[in-house]
Amino acid sequence: MKNSIYGLTIEQLKDWFVENGQKKYRAEQVWDWLYIKRVTEFSEMKNLSKDCIELLENSFAIRTLDQAVKQESSDGTIKFLFRLQDGNLIETVLMRFKYGNSVCVTTQVGCNIGCSFCASGLLKKSRDLNAGEIVEQIMQVQAHFDAEQKEERVSHIVVMGIGEPFDNYTNLMDFLHVVNSQKGLAIGARHITVSTSGIVPKIYDYADEGLQVNLAISIHAPTNELRSRIMKINKAYPVEKLMDSIDYYLEKSNRRITFEYIMLRDVNDHVEEANKLAKLLENKRHLSYVNLIPYNSVDEHDQYQQSTPEAISAFYDALKKKGINCGVRHEQGADIDAACGQLRSKQIKKEKKPATV
Ligand code: SAH
Ligand code: SF4
Repeated sequence: MKNSIYGLTIEQLKDWFVENGQKKYRAEQVWDWLYIKRVTEFSEMKNLSKDCIELLENSFAIRTLDQAVKQESSDGTIKFLFRLQDGNLIETVLMRFKYGNSVCVTTQVGCNIGCSFCASGLLKKSRDLNAGEIVEQIMQVQAHFDAEQKEERVSHIVVMGIGEPFDNYTNLMDFLHVVNSQKGLAIGARHITVSTSGIVPKIYDYADEGLQVNLAISIHAPTNELRSRIMKINKAYPVEKLMDSIDYYLEKSNRRITFEYIMLRDVNDHVEEANKLAKLLENKRHLSYVNLIPYNSVDEHDQYQQSTPEAISAFYDALKKKGINCGVRHEQGADIDAACGQLRSKQIKKEKKPATV
């Protein structure tokens, strides 16, 4: 099985060509075919010699994902389920906004963090995606636009699909460099957001990268007691350690950070928690934005329900009163298994069922 060439940054591809006795500038030619003209066969790369095409064909694939399911919602959201070369399934979601087209990508097959409310964590991680498989999700969605001959492009990316991106750090970084490169898709760093459950050592590493890519932290609770109950990662990286790493990131980047807060009915949605959250963020108010997320219920986690609109609005008001920037995330694709990991777990169940006649 060959990996996709999409996984190489332009620098890595230049080095690869040199190691293989070719000229460096071949990398720029190949990138133009891949990301500007967007061909899917090496043989279509007309300005390369036969030898060079053969070398590429023997070493890499371009496409490695097979579209298994495509669900379109009435609000324009499209959910893609892709089968990887090894048979595993992953999800990618296209969301349409006034400001552009945003794609939510998956970084791992399953997730080991095991948050108690999440559909992705139901299935243990079987492997990390390689960088090519992450980039290809974007290319497949872009191909959907290209096939419809629309002049549309993927303009935004959220790394919020299945998996914990900071548990697949090197591939994540390569992915970010590929999609952000001016020579390729040129998706602006400020249009990309990476979400983490709070792997503290990686937050320090990420701060040191000096990227302009946005960071979102899944905070979900303001105290160790409550956070550990719903996210067991909090036992390894408790709130105060997490906050220290965030302070370091803010100091280094001076960029605004987003805190995601899932609203779970009667669990973390009281005004008392809003006040505690406001206190926690007090010293970084000017660089914080709290995104309140209505919970998408998951069949296997029936102990959790979505908060009532009244509770969400009271929580929001309490944060605002304390001067915290916040908003309520608008639900996308409500009619199509939109919650993180849901489509995948349903499809896996379907495939496991014995065939009925
Ligand atoms: N593993 C990373 C990124 C993927 S999850 C993380 O946890 O941050 C992206 C976001 O979706 C996280 O904030 C996560 O808590 C949230 N999420 C997971 N399951 C959800 C559900 N059923 N409803 C709403 N949001 C959910
Ligand atoms: Fe993994 Fe994120 Fe789901 Fe937690 S919320 S189980 S970290 S994907």
